Amino acid sequence: MITRQVVRCRSVAEVVAAIKHARQSGARLVPRGGGHCFTDRLSGADVVLDMTGLRSISVVGDVATIEAGAVLGEVYPALDAAGRALPAGCGPTVGITGLTLGGGIGLIGRAHGLTCDRLIGAQVVLADGTIADCDATREPDLFWALRGAGGGHFAVVTKLHFKTVPATPITRISAQWAPPDPELLAAAWQAWAPEIPDNLTVNLTIGVRAGLVGASLLAVEPTRELVRELSDLAGHEIPFDLRGGMSLPELKGSFNEPVQQHHTRSEFFARSLSDRVLTELLDHQPGGRLSFTAMGGAYNRVGPDATAFAHRNERFLLEHVGTPGWVDTSWAIAHEDGSGRVYPNFPDPALANGPPAYHGENLDRLRAVKQLYDPDRFFDFPQAL
Ligand SMILES: Cc1cc2nc3c(=O)[nH]c(=O)nc-3n(C[C@H](O)[C@H](O)[C@H](O)COP(=O)(O)OP(=O)(O)OC[C@H]3O[C@@H](n4cnc5c(N)ncnc54)[C@H](O)[C@@H]3O)c2cc1C
Repeated sequence: MITRQVVRCRSVAEVVAAIKHARQSGARLVPRGGGHCFTDRLSGADVVLDMTGLRSISVVGDVATIEAGAVLGEVYPALDAAGRALPAGCGPTVGITGLTLGGGIGLIGRAHGLTCDRLIGAQVVLADGTIADCDATREPDLFWALRGAGGGHFAVVTKLHFKTVPATPITRISAQWAPPDPELLAAAWQAWAPEIPDNLTVNLTIGVRAGLVGASLLAVEPTRELVRELSDLAGHEIPFDLRGGMSLPELKGSFNEPVQQHHTRSEFFARSLSDRVLTELLDHQPGGRLSFTAMGGAYNRVGPDATAFAHRNERFLLEHVGTPGWVDTSWAIAHEDGSGRVYPNFPDPALANGPPAYHGENLDRLRAVKQLYDPDRFFDFPQAL
């Protein structure tokens, strides 16, 4: 029987002690924040380093300092109280560190970039127990690698420093309807949503329930024109609700649903699906859900090698959510037009070629950073670098 130890750290000194002890005893240690990793990286771990005892958040000017165990549901309100915001994901219990290390796609990301694009420094404990501060000038290669390669590769992060953005009112536009021609809608969305102005995010979900298409439309500024534009492209009137003047915590809260364990696989797309693939995908659709997330905007104005997040030329991310058999078939249909790139925060154990899919052309440099900072592969897991 495996006896797994969970060590809940309340200080950086305790993180150092846990790492040194694990090393000396030959134990395999895995850090855990919000605990939402899509794959089970804890299996085989002897020691789970629970970071949730370290979760203070402070804001000075436009810089937020957040301890590694904080979760999004506490980050947004703390920043909002100081008049600041951070582009980051949904899910109140998602850990800020796991999310940031893998990128961080969110509802105001087309305007302000990935969460990791706002990272200006981090404190880490290295595999030998050394505490290090890294930023653009101190340990710059490690700082580069922390921005978008995914969690758990190089060091245990204890603190993150972000350059925040001003908190501004947000308008949520949402719609749930059964469109007469879902194919036309999906085709119109693919050509349109990655190109619209940065302050607008429009994501599309097809098949919330069999036969019903749901879409969630979001705008940072109130604009009914946006919905009219998509209505014109889709060839029918889209009925929508508009709620203006929301703070980011309110907006995120309006999307909070109980976290359900669904099977999911995803891929990035640098071009629209062909008509044939789209038809096949929608013919197969009843039984699961297709979620299209628009990229473009500020996400794509950072070079693919400027941070470890390599996916800067993609137009959208497509998630397939449902039963394992349905998801595998749906993923395989769409994959024909996919870019072969997969978001590091949505790791997929079924991938035959994980590391190149997650890291693209950044893989060799990431492997060099790994060799430099963790030559003994103390931090390791299946499908790692
Ligand atoms: C309900 C839900 C909603 C989501 N919404 C979004 C979204 O809107 N946008 C988006 O981009 N992603 C989203 N995700 C995906 C999310 O970004 C990833 O699952 C992320 O890895 C979760 O981080 P965590 O800290 O919660 O998980 P964990 O399992 O604790 O950590 C994830 C990985 O990071 C490592 N890690 C954790 N803490 C540290 C640390 N201190 N130092 C070094 N490594 C560490 C872990 O070992 C693991 O490999 C969502 C996930 C869920 C479940």
